[in-house]
Formats: sequence, C-alpha cells, structure tokens
Amino acid sequence: MKPKLPSNKELKEYHDADTIEDLPDAVASQPEMQEISDIEIPEPLKDPVTSDDLLHRQFEPEPFWEQIPAFKGVSREEFLDVKFQNSNSATKVDHLDELLEDVVSPDFLADVRKGMHIAPMNMRLSPYILSLIDWSDPYNDPLRVQFIPVGSTKKPDHPKLSLDSLSEQEDSPTGGLVHRYFDKALFLPLDVCPVYCRFCTRSYAIGSDTDQVTKLSFKAIPDKWNKAFAYIASRPEIEDIVISGGDTYMLKPHRIKQIGETLLSIPHVRRLRFATKGPAVMPMKILNQPEWTDALIDVVNQGREMSKEVVLHTHFNHWKEITSITYDAMDYLFKAGVTVRNQSVLIRGVNDKIEDMINLVRQLSIINVQPYYVYQHDMVQGTEELRTTLQHSLEVERHVRGTTAGFNTPTFVTDAPGGGGKRDIHSYDHYDEVSGISVYRSPSVDEDKLYLYFDPIYLLPKEGQDLWRDPKNHDDLVKDALSQMGR
Ligand SMILES: *Cc1c(COP(=O)(O)O)cnc(C)c1O
Ligand code: SF4
Repeated sequence: MKPKLPSNKELKEYHDADTIEDLPDAVASQPEMQEISDIEIPEPLKDPVTSDDLLHRQFEPEPFWEQIPAFKGVSREEFLDVKFQNSNSATKVDHLDELLEDVVSPDFLADVRKGMHIAPMNMRLSPYILSLIDWSDPYNDPLRVQFIPVGSTKKPDHPKLSLDSLSEQEDSPTGGLVHRYFDKALFLPLDVCPVYCRFCTRSYAIGSDTDQVTKLSFKAIPDKWNKAFAYIASRPEIEDIVISGGDTYMLKPHRIKQIGETLLSIPHVRRLRFATKGPAVMPMKILNQPEWTDALIDVVNQGREMSKEVVLHTHFNHWKEITSITYDAMDYLFKAGVTVRNQSVLIRGVNDKIEDMINLVRQLSIINVQPYYVYQHDMVQGTEELRTTLQHSLEVERHVRGTTAGFNTPTFVTDAPGGGGKRDIHSYDHYDEVSGISVYRSPSVDEDKLYLYFDPIYLLPKEGQDLWRDPKNHDDLVKDALSQMGR
C-alpha cells in the first residue's frame, strides 16, 4: 500500500505549526507500532547475502594458539596473561626454531636466518602473533610478512631511497620531537616496541642496532622529554600532540600519566593521541594489565574534564590480527569512553588485495575502531618487496570507498618523501606510471617545493624497468617529471 502523502495545504500548516498538537492530522498521526515479526517483509531488491559476505563478523575460533605445539594445553587464562606473552616472545631465530620445530620446514627457518642478517629491524614475536600465522604457508601469511624477514624475497632498494625518508631529523628541534606542521607535533618518547615491523618508517631509530643499521637513539630518558615539553610549551601554535615512539604500549603506566598530565597542563595543547601497535600484537594487555589501561583511561578522563581530546591510535594492518581477544579489549575501551582510531600501512603481500583491505576496514568498524589512515608504504631501506605502486594503491582506495560508512572509511595518504607531510594519494600533480614517479605539492609545509615518490622498479612495466637500468638516466627521469610541472 502506498502511504498517503500530505497535501500542500497540510504541509503549509505543518511548517507553521509551533507544537506537535498544532500539526494537521495527516502529518501528526503515526501508525501504531506493530510487532516487527507480524509485518510482511518488503520485496528485496538485492540478492541475499552469504556468510562469505559477512566474514568480518567472525573471529578465529579459540583456542587458536593450540596450532603451536608448545602452546598445546595452554588455558585461555594463561594465554591471556601478559607475563606468559612476554616470557614466551621470540626475539631470536633459535627460539623460533624451538617453538616451530615440526611446524615449519628447516628451509624456511634458514631463510629467516638469512633475512635477519640483512634486515634493518630486530624481531619480537608474541605467542599471540605466532599462533595466528598460518605455518603451512608462511611465505604468504600477512603476519609473517610484517614481522619476520626472509632472505629469499629481498629486492634491491630503489636508488632514490634513504633511511630517514621522511626527513624527520630536519624538522626536529630537540631529540624525540618532530614539529613539521603548524599546529601539531610528533613526540617520540622511547625507542622500543612490543613487536618490530619490517616496514617501520623509523627503522633509523627504533629497536637496538642490527647487523645493518646503527641506530640513532631516543631512549626513554625523562630528561630529554623535558626539553620536548619545554619546546611545546614555548610554541603557542601547537594544539595537537601525537605520542608515538617506539610504541606507547611500552611506557610504564606512571609514564603514561606523567606525559599525559604534563601535556594537558600546557594551555594551548588541546588534543593528544597515544599511538601503539600493541593491540594488534598483544591485545590481552588492555584486559589484563589494568594499570596501563587505567592510566590511559585516567588521562582520557582528565582531558575530557578540561574539554581536551585524548584518544588512542592503533595500527592494525590485516584482519587476521583481530580476534575475539581484540574484540574484548576494544570493547573495554569503548565502554570506558575511549575513542580509538586506526592507521594502517598498505603493504604488498599483507593488505594489498582489495578484499582484504575491505574486510579489515569492516572488521575494525565492528570492534568500534575507526579506520583513519592507510599509508602508502614509505621509501624505507630494505623493504622494497613490501611497497606497492601508487597506481595499485589508487585502485585499492577506489574499491574501499563506499563499502561502509564514510566516517569508517580511511583516507589513503602518502607521507611525501623529503618532508612534504601527508598527502591524499589521489592529489598528485603528476604521475607517470611507466617511470613510477609521482609529484606532490604540499603548500601547508612549503609553497614552492615539489615532493617525489617513486614506485618500486621491479613492479613497473618492462619499459619503465629499462629506463631505470642505467644509473646515468636517473637524473633525467627526475628532471623529466619536474619539467612536467613547469620546473
Ligand atoms: C603524521 C604526523 C602528524 C599527525 O598528522 P595527522 O594528519 O593529523 O594525523 C604530526 N606530525 C608529524 C611529523 C607526522 O608525521
Ligand atoms: S610498532 Fe610502530 S614504531 Fe614500532 S616497529 Fe612497528 S611500525 Fe615501527
């Protein structure tokens, strides 16, 4: 039955009405609510969904950790104990060897040994991560790809790549502080993490020295922090502080409070974000180390009292990192009123398939974590096999946008090499898919400067790979891209 529409006269009366009693009957009278189950279902216009369409609502069944022989028979309670997670974390290949004997081939482990030798990052694998990796196919597992280097898949670095590709050092007035944008600053209070990501942008500083890289250090030295606080207090334009690292999961609860309270006490500071990869690799800490979680919630509440926003930024890259334990952890924060947002990195072999990215975005939404950014992979040493071409990332973005609510749709950004800051990946001024060079402007950072991003050479069309073969051509390729911009 078609609903009866109000007449023009009734509509005019409706607009003129001051109270609900003045409304004309046709507008004011609502049908009685019926039991929904008594109502005939309107003819659907869409095909019925299958359980495959709703995969993002499912989690790996517990006890998923029993796939590792060493964790067979471990109870949920023990597995959720942070001490168990820490004391059983693997930081050496030998330990991995022990844990994965009979689960993975010796050839794979030999490959990891090779990988560790050439990697810019250390290794730290919680039992939680180890249990979520599909050891029957470790080469293609999205968690393995993120955290465990292997020698055999290594690609040579791009000739235009450098270790601190974001030039953070140049925008750093004091150790552990980056002030690039007008009103926001990045505070790096420590250099340790609950996991070491192969693709880390700050591999120049994070973790201890590896065979390949001697690191700059931003150790957790409160003395150094004071300099950062003093600088922030001296700059009235700074309203927004990202507290990252390393990783704030590794800060002692009293340090979370100290940093939070100190920054909140600076009048012009309005917004704080604590950034951590922790919930992706050890979500049980939120549930079972209440001191850390309560310190965070306390700072959030103090901020709210002062009308200042304090939030948590997580770093999930693949839906396999999200489990029923993550659900409980994020639910605990949600119920405590903590806003949680997520930043991902688009990584080849991890989340570069369209359906995986869509599933990640939807699953984050289910656990009340708002997808905020997806980063184009930075140009970082020793990670060439993990980068995608800009062209590919643009295509992933096109498919993701529109699959769920706009506020849960991440913005895809390139952190422009050379210190240009974050740019919407679609906002390039020039892009040549053959040479793989894209050019961005970033007027808020520098009106005149141009910033270049380079696709991985081995993923370029053959013609493009040929262009880069001879180092004598490299300058001309760059000049050519700049000339397209009238430079
Ligand atoms: C990413 C970043 C920020 C925060 O940027 P948003 O776009 O607001 O998330 C601040 N400072 C630096 C140096 C950054 O790299
Ligand atoms: S957790 Fe963050 S800072 Fe630490 S290694 Fe991973 S990406 Fe780098």
